[in-house]
Amino acid sequence: MIIQLQQGIPADLKENILKQVSEIGYKANEVITQEAHYLVAIGKKDFDIRYIGQLPGVADIHRVSEEYKLISRKWRVEPTRIDLGDGVVIGEGSFSIMAGPCSIESEAQIESVVAHLKENNVRIMRGGVFKPRSSPYAFRGMGMDGLKMFHRICRENDIKVITEVMQVSQIEEMIDYVDVFQVGARNSQNFNLLDSLGESQKPVLLKRGISGTLEELLQAAEYIFSHGNEKIMLCERGIRSYEGAYRNVLDLNAVPVLKEKTHLPVIVDPSHGIGLRDYVEQMSLAAVMAGADGVIYETHQTPEKAFSDAQQTVNFWESETMISRMRKAYELRESF
Ligand code: PEP
Ligand code: MN
Repeated sequence: MIIQLQQGIPADLKENILKQVSEIGYKANEVITQEAHYLVAIGKKDFDIRYIGQLPGVADIHRVSEEYKLISRKWRVEPTRIDLGDGVVIGEGSFSIMAGPCSIESEAQIESVVAHLKENNVRIMRGGVFKPRSSPYAFRGMGMDGLKMFHRICRENDIKVITEVMQVSQIEEMIDYVDVFQVGARNSQNFNLLDSLGESQKPVLLKRGISGTLEELLQAAEYIFSHGNEKIMLCERGIRSYEGAYRNVLDLNAVPVLKEKTHLPVIVDPSHGIGLRDYVEQMSLAAVMAGADGVIYETHQTPEKAFSDAQQTVNFWESETMISRMRKAYELRESF
């Protein structure tokens, strides 16, 4: 059961609600986010929720039977839209394109990607500075120096920054240089990281785990929300299967299913999803038609020279074609 409290509820009214909730045998968890104040009450007993609903100080109340509550569409029917400022909004009503290299490599590389994004009116650039790599000997990113450069050049060009955070201790040093924190597939169930990102209040793009179920992804998002941060988007990036013809299986089934289960925006990553640059465009168009709120993909001036994920990175010419086709596909989808 979710109880939304009135903004600025006086302490005595809140205490009274907590007392009544505990008397019916429910355990209340208090959640204060940047948007509102809730009590998530967990219990099994059946009772008439109007009994709690009529108490002074209660703004809204709903029973939600899923394990995840606050991110459920049963609780909130209205889709969440995340405002990054300067006219950049992610969520239903628009189609967001986030593009850039797998890894930030140099000033010249950032500048060339930024110029490509500007020419195509793309407002969000991706790029990793802390890279989770399967091999400890592979390039692991430029770290904070790379992030500061990435952020400076993007700010000068009115572009938002999305980059991966790998551990709790990095949040504080990164936070002023990031518009959206990405949680990678390998950290999808790092609950300490999710808790801290909840407290940080910055928008988060949460990727599905390599072998993660949708239920696990949704529960991971609930961690962030219940620690105070409603600005979450989910990302389908492919799951591991027995098929060896491509890197992962991009599970586009997840898009309509997630859209029904949660009010959070759903983004698709076709680059990691298939792992082969020749098919990234087809999968991005399929993602649009499946109902995604946006895509995040890898592009580089000279993909074959990219420091990481070269095989799945498209060049700017391919990226430009993709952008214009995705926009046409989105218009078509919206006209149905
Ligand atoms: C990435 O975005 O470059 C990345 C490492 O993604 P994932 O966590 O989905 O593997
Ligand atoms: Mn990558």
